[in-house]
Amino acid sequence: MTVSFWQQRAREPDLACDVAIVGAGIIGCSTAYWLHRLRPSLRVLLLDAGQVASGASGRNAGFLIQGTATDYVTDQKKYGPERAKELWHLTRENRDLLVSELRPEVFHLEASGSMTVAGTREEDERLRASVSPMRYDGASVAYVTAADTNRRLRSQGFFGALYVSSGAMLDSVALVRHLADESKAEVLPHHPVLELDERADQVTLETPVRRVRAAQVVLAMNAYTPKLVPELGKMVRPVRAQMLATAPLLPRWLHVPAYTHEGYFYIRQLVDGTVLLGGARHLHRVKEVGYKDETTPDLQADLEAYLHHYFPQRADVQVVRRWSGVMGFSPDGLPIWGPVPGHNRTLWAGGFTGHGMSFGFRFGMMMAELTMGYTHAEYADLFASTRFIKPPRQAVSKAS
Ligand SMILES: Cc1cc2nc3c(=O)[nH]c(=O)nc-3n(C[C@H](O)[C@H](O)[C@H](O)COP(=O)(O)OP(=O)(O)OC[C@H]3O[C@@H](n4cnc5c(N)ncnc54)[C@H](O)[C@@H]3O)c2cc1C
Repeated sequence: MTVSFWQQRAREPDLACDVAIVGAGIIGCSTAYWLHRLRPSLRVLLLDAGQVASGASGRNAGFLIQGTATDYVTDQKKYGPERAKELWHLTRENRDLLVSELRPEVFHLEASGSMTVAGTREEDERLRASVSPMRYDGASVAYVTAADTNRRLRSQGFFGALYVSSGAMLDSVALVRHLADESKAEVLPHHPVLELDERADQVTLETPVRRVRAAQVVLAMNAYTPKLVPELGKMVRPVRAQMLATAPLLPRWLHVPAYTHEGYFYIRQLVDGTVLLGGARHLHRVKEVGYKDETTPDLQADLEAYLHHYFPQRADVQVVRRWSGVMGFSPDGLPIWGPVPGHNRTLWAGGFTGHGMSFGFRFGMMMAELTMGYTHAEYADLFASTRFIKPPRQAVSKAS
């Protein structure tokens, strides 16, 4: 994006603030909310290229999945037992804080529990094996047999499932708008940040509308972070996800969000009967990358085929909306925060890898604490970008 001489000359007056947050999605708005809770006297500006929740935060399925996308046994192997437990607890805290801090009726939170449903026998075995370590680590879960899973979801062909009592679902746009309101931050929509310049005790953000000066900056742009800071392209890459919504199907039969086939398909139903269905990205990996906001007939056909296959009695339903959104994927599947390279007053957060709603509100608390200089904020080590920085060769050989 370029700005002409005339546009530049006609810009609005500069604004100054204590903290400027770039990106008004779940992470930016949660960070603003917790900054206000920590220090209400701060002047916080929330800038977005579009408006509040115009990115992935306003385009998702609204699942509050507990833990990560994968089963607990796999998480324990991949991240180690301690980190798997921490991740679980963070998502649980995230969900509990949404209920205790905010007005959940505003964003239609349904404390329904959730079902993680196996699409293969092998996945079923992993889900079943996850029950005991999950319970040991404090999770309230139950294994559901294939017959009971299909009875409960009125489906056919699924293997077993895990019922997770703390899982939930909500309206993401309503939540993010609520957070923006409650944060008392000044929201600046249609302010795409084109340049970031840090000098001495101040950071300057250039937008086509005005210049913003801030003592500190948080970049909460997720997939879009590398567009402003290309070096961070190593840590966050843009991946597309698609969804559809059907005409209302009444009476409502799905009362829990169902996350199936390792999370590659996800389906839920609203109180009015509307079915929301997303996924199938794994069948189109080459195409489903980048920043293009568009749906594709092939992937959408796969979503409909899934509905026909697993929910045959709902097969003649009319699709009323199809959409896409851009997610930020990290190399290890976990979110990342860190200082922007070469900057002292600018932090960034991203790489939520398709699960930002499950992490976001609690993650925003951590970002607010880090912005305020609490370097020992809980969970900060778990998500720090330093995990991708290799120790110098010499240090490795000494240690081994
Ligand atoms: C189809 C789909 C389904 C999903 N389902 C779920 C789900 O059910 N549960 C779940 O937990 N997660 C889900 N996710 C993932 C979740 O939506 C994201 O992880 C989360 O929204 C990321 O939030 P964010 O605030 O980091 O980023 P975003 O919401 O993407 O916010 C980034 C913001 O930055 C703004 N921005 C970008 N560039 C600039 C710039 N230069 N200047 C100013 N502003 C800028 C954008 O306009 C945007 O508003 C889904 C995602 C998609 C796409």
